[in-house]
Amino acid sequence: MNRTEPVKAVFLDRDGVINHDPGDYTTCLDEFTILPGVIETLKEFTERGYAVVVITNQGGIAKGRYPVRNFAEIDSYMRGEFEKAGVHYLDTYFCPHHDAVSKCLCRKPRSGMVEKAIARHHINPQKSFMVGDKMRDLVAAAGAGVKGVKIDVNQDMRTVKFPFD
Ligand SMILES: [Mg+2]
Ligand SMILES: [Zn+2]
Repeated sequence: MNRTEPVKAVFLDRDGVINHDPGDYTTCLDEFTILPGVIETLKEFTERGYAVVVITNQGGIAKGRYPVRNFAEIDSYMRGEFEKAGVHYLDTYFCPHHDAVSKCLCRKPRSGMVEKAIARHHINPQKSFMVGDKMRDLVAAAGAGVKGVKIDVNQDMRTVKFPFD
């Protein structure tokens, strides 16, 4: 890919979109299960010329529910699964903060992580979209000029109609 050309990307929330969200934090790799349809859908994004960026709130870190190394272990496993499948994956941005502990500019619904990804990877926000299972995912995207697709928690993404460019 020509690195001077703006990239089109699909931003994805993690918990409840990529992996099964049981209604509590995913605290370690043993609790991380990729949902049915995710790999197939991400491969379709790749075939259509989209890069994949993961944007995830991990407030459990601020609350002391799990250490950042557990998050990092999950992330490297997830990247490995994407790479094995030939998904064009770019990056993961995570917010380790929680408003109950300390305020930040990155926690969704704020747009800090999406804005950082756009700047760092030369992403064209108008040609991109965000997939999330919570309104705060879509609010974070909108704040950075990115349209959003709301899905149900743990929905099979093969059943979703995406706003392909
Ligand atoms: Mg979620
Ligand atoms: Zn943060």
